[in-house]
This record gives sequence, structure tokens and C-alpha cells, in this order.
Amino acid sequence: MSARYERPVSLAEALPLLAAGGWGVLAGGTDVYPAHVGRPLPQPLLDITAIEGLRGIRRVGDVWTIGAATTWTDVLTADLPPAFDALKQAAREVGGVQIQNAGTVAGNLCNASPAADGTPVLMALGADVVLRSTGGERRVAAIDFVLGSRRTACRPDELVTAIEIPAPGERARSVFAKLGGRRYLTISMTMVAVVLDRTANGAVASAGVAVGSCSARARRLPALEAKLVGATAGADLAARVAATDLSPLTPIDDLRASAAYRLDATQTLLRRALASLST
Ligand SMILES: Cc1cc2nc3c(=O)[nH]c(=O)nc-3n(C[C@H](O)[C@H](O)[C@H](O)COP(=O)(O)OP(=O)(O)OC[C@H]3O[C@@H](n4cnc5c(N)ncnc54)[C@H](O)[C@@H]3O)c2cc1C
Repeated sequence: MSARYERPVSLAEALPLLAAGGWGVLAGGTDVYPAHVGRPLPQPLLDITAIEGLRGIRRVGDVWTIGAATTWTDVLTADLPPAFDALKQAAREVGGVQIQNAGTVAGNLCNASPAADGTPVLMALGADVVLRSTGGERRVAAIDFVLGSRRTACRPDELVTAIEIPAPGERARSVFAKLGGRRYLTISMTMVAVVLDRTANGAVASAGVAVGSCSARARRLPALEAKLVGATAGADLAARVAATDLSPLTPIDDLRASAAYRLDATQTLLRRALASLST
């Protein structure tokens, strides 16, 4: 009978195990274990937290790399430029400190919950997901990686080894905002992430806007992004948000909120986020 748990120390050990099939990947376990309370785990677990080189955030050239074993606490304590403020704000929202100490950014993305706090931020930052298998390495844009609720582009023989973010410009700023039924430890009704870069004269050079909890997967809002690009310094960015910009979203009615309320609240969060980035 095969082992029920392995904790390899290198990708050279881990990837052949995944290639052989049948393993579930375990990082912080803060999604995996609560999903199986009172029930046996359906498959043996491959714990990736001891694999060399998978933990930490570093910039090499024009790319920031967040290793797959990097926790939310690692994000909070990292020295990052202001463009990553939204990621730090999301990190503070993921459960409490114990969850942030164990839970990983990559695990949040791979779990593919519609309400995952990190996912819209990574999408707005234009992140790519790096996947490794014994067959090699490939990259998938974060917006294409999450296919739907609990579904990703990661094959069973693959491991996400890192998330890569093109280095934002020095003037880039970002904000994340989430609305739940209570202030802390809440699953959101809606959440928004906005990343704006500016030219030397203050015009908006690029915009990334993404919304979570309002579709089976987080979505970017290209029509709103296009309206923001070119806005001059001091322009009222919040006034550019229109209901039609939210057309990629397909919110549901559930016990947390009605679809109509989610859309209304999303517009308000977007306006507030843009107002905070307008100066
Ligand atoms: C009390 C509590 C509160 C929480 N609050 C929030 C919250 O407010 N917001 C929020 O977004 N989340 C919340 N979560 C969910 C969870 O903490 C986060 O999603 C966390 O980031 C998951 O990371 P992890 O390392 O623990 O993932 P794990 O549980 O280890 O894994 C999650 C999934 O991703 C897969 N996976 C993990 N790493 C990889 C990899 N490198 N390659 C391929 N597949 C991989 C696993 O196989 C599994 O399917 C909460 C959880 C708890 C228990």
C-alpha cells in the first residue's frame, strides 16, 4: 500500500510522485483539512512546504516571484512597493492570524473558491501562474488559470511552483476592498481589486480592475479598465464607473446577499477604490 503522506524536499522528488498519479497537493492545509472534517481524506497528500526554493517573494529583473509555499504572513512582512498594497490588504482579510501564518497565496488561488480574497488582486496585477511537471514548465495567466468554482487549469500531474507578476511601474498604486456580513472573518458578498499605473504627468497609463464573489470565478472588467486609461491627473475616476461595466459579472442570490445587492455594492466599492487612488 502506498504512503498516505509525503513531504519531499525537492521538486526532483515531488514531480515524479505527482506523475505517478493519485496524490492531492497540500500546502497550508487551511482549505484541505476543513473540507474533510469527520471524513477520511480521499487521497494521499503530497505536502509541498519543505520543497527547497518554494517559499518567499523576490524580484529578479522585471518580474516579482511569489513562491508557491509563501504564506499570507510572508506577504504582510515582505518589503514590497505600493503597487502591492492590495495584496497586503487582502492578506489581512484571509481568516485570522493563525490562518495567515499557514495559508498560502498559491493555495488560495488553486482552491478556486469564488470568494478567494487573493484571486482578484492577482488578476488585477496581471499575474501568471507557473506550473511544473516531469514534462516541463508552462505559464498560464491568472485570469485563465481559474476555470470556475473549484476548477483550475492545473493538471493532476502538475504543481504550481510560483506566481509571477510583471514589476509594476514606480508610480503604480493599488487597493483591495471587501464587503461581508461582518467586519472580520467573513466570506465576502463582493470584493474588488484595482491597480493603476501613471505616467510622469499623472495620467493613468494602465489599469487592472477585478471583482470576486460575483461570478463562479473572479473576473476583470475590461470596459472599465479602458475608460480609466488616459484619465488625466486629478480626474474624477470614481465617476467613470457605470453599471454596464459590470456586465462580465454573474452574481447569484444566496443567503449572504441578493444578486442585485452584490452588483450595487460592487459599484460602490469600485467608486471608493478609485476615489482613494485619484489623488
Ligand atoms: C477559519 C478560516 C478562515 C478563512 N478565511 C478566509 C478568508 O477570509 N478569505 C479567503 O480567501 N480564504 C479564507 N480561508 C481559506 C484559506 O485559508 C485560504 O484559501 C488559504 O490561502 C489556502 O491556502 P493553503 O496553503 O492553506 O491551501 P491548502 O488547503 O493546502 O490547499 C488548497 C487547495 O489548493 C491546492 N494546492 C495548494 N497549493 C498548491 C500548489 N502549489 N499546486 C497545486 N495545487 C495546490 C490543494 O491541493 C487544495 O486543493 C479561510 C480558511 C479557514 C479555515
